[in-house]
Amino acid sequence: MGSHPTIARANEAYARRMFDVTVVGSLNLDLVARMPRLPGPGETVSGISYDEFAGGKGLNQAVAAARSGTSVAMVGAVGGDHAGTDLRALVRGEGIDDARIATIEDAATGRAMIFVDGAAENSIVVIPGSNARVEVADLPPTRVVLAQLETTVPVVTRAFELAHAAAATTLLNPAPGAEPPAGLLANCDVVVPHEHELGLVGGVDALFAAGVGAVVVTRGAAGADLHRPGQHVLHVDAFPVAPVDTTGAGDAFCGALASRLSVGDELATAIRYATAAGALATTTPGAVPSQPTADAIRDLLGRA
Ligand code: ADP
Repeated sequence: MGSHPTIARANEAYARRMFDVTVVGSLNLDLVARMPRLPGPGETVSGISYDEFAGGKGLNQAVAAARSGTSVAMVGAVGGDHAGTDLRALVRGEGIDDARIATIEDAATGRAMIFVDGAAENSIVVIPGSNARVEVADLPPTRVVLAQLETTVPVVTRAFELAHAAAATTLLNPAPGAEPPAGLLANCDVVVPHEHELGLVGGVDALFAAGVGAVVVTRGAAGADLHRPGQHVLHVDAFPVAPVDTTGAGDAFCGALASRLSVGDELATAIRYATAAGALATTTPGAVPSQPTADAIRDLLGRA
């Protein structure tokens, strides 16, 4: 029996569904141990507590974009372990499309082992695992593509080529700090480095020389700045909040920025929104759990 024409049309619309934001990035399980002081080489210390959190810059930013109220797809990979099953369930629970998150049965899901001492100083080891084996054959139809550097440079480079071929806007958060190759930068519409990463990417002028359209520098409690080739366009102050854990602030900022650009905001307007998202992310512990909703962000913007 052939399918009813109305159903056929609905299926076709679904197959061609346009996402607001596609995030190409990492998914990790964060293993967090707290201890009075970090162990030196060959030393064993007794810890105080242990927790597991969903993390990875890609996943954090995808959750931030979804909670900002836009439709999100994620491109990435988990391993064939329990962490992979749990992270996929979390992705689906946030309403994020997981059709392009591969399960690589013979890989371990990415892990970040985080040691935190009594003064909140930390030491982190990231084991990429499945994140090092992400492949990108195609992208879903999408308005904005957002990536970081926790998968591989060839994957992000390919994703941005595909994005531009489909007239999507590309945003790169060059974290963790590394120098992105010129071939990647040539396809970046907006680069969003933390001020500490700016030196590693060669400074604002080096980014513009490589063909980047705009640079948004995040400066923690000092807010954010927008640069265009040859000019510093705008400084946005941070919202005054009482931070309890700044983990995930940059991810909240990037996800919210991508979200607002995908619905047509100007960069200046989107940066103000993202600054509110970043501030709110510092007021609760963790990375994924602290990503704010659109309601909370609008509330903070309305009170300013
Ligand atoms: P990262 O998390 O990558 O270190 P930042 O610390 O620059 O990134 O934070 C990203 C954004 O979040 C900042 O530009 C700022 O708008 C907001 N933010 C971060 N820390 C604070 C803070 N202590 N108070 C208010 N806003 C903050």
